[in-house]
Amino acid sequence: MEDESKKELKILKECYKSAEHENVIWVCDGAANVGQVGQAIGVLLTNLDKGRMCCTTAVAAGSKPHLEIAERAKKNIVINGCANRCASKVLEKAGKKIDYEIIISKYLQKVPTLDIYMGDVKKIAQIIIEEAKL
Ligand code: SF4
Repeated sequence: MEDESKKELKILKECYKSAEHENVIWVCDGAANVGQVGQAIGVLLTNLDKGRMCCTTAVAAGSKPHLEIAERAKKNIVINGCANRCASKVLEKAGKKIDYEIIISKYLQKVPTLDIYMGDVKKIAQIIIEEAKL
């Protein structure tokens, strides 16, 4: 969670307009440490301009603009908390390509907590940047 005293908002490009040029990041946002680390990685990579996080739940809900973003994305980067691969399954069920996927629990033990460490977020984000060539 961001510090509320932060000075300026980083306004993102609208992903619907720029999907062809974006590494679109889909996270599961699962309710365990690994899901929340994945969510924080999505935010970090977006703020580093390595990609653009988009709404995975909207794809699952059949939202047409979001299905089109997944269709047009330069790369679809999928971040799953655990081996259930929920975010990947959302894209697969929608018939969308997955250019890169990661399972956070391969790098971090899954624990039923929402408390996470930024050290884990930065370390695994770096793995994604290297493996997915972001
Ligand atoms: S992949 Fe794992 S952590 Fe993510 S939503 Fe599914 S069950 Fe939860």
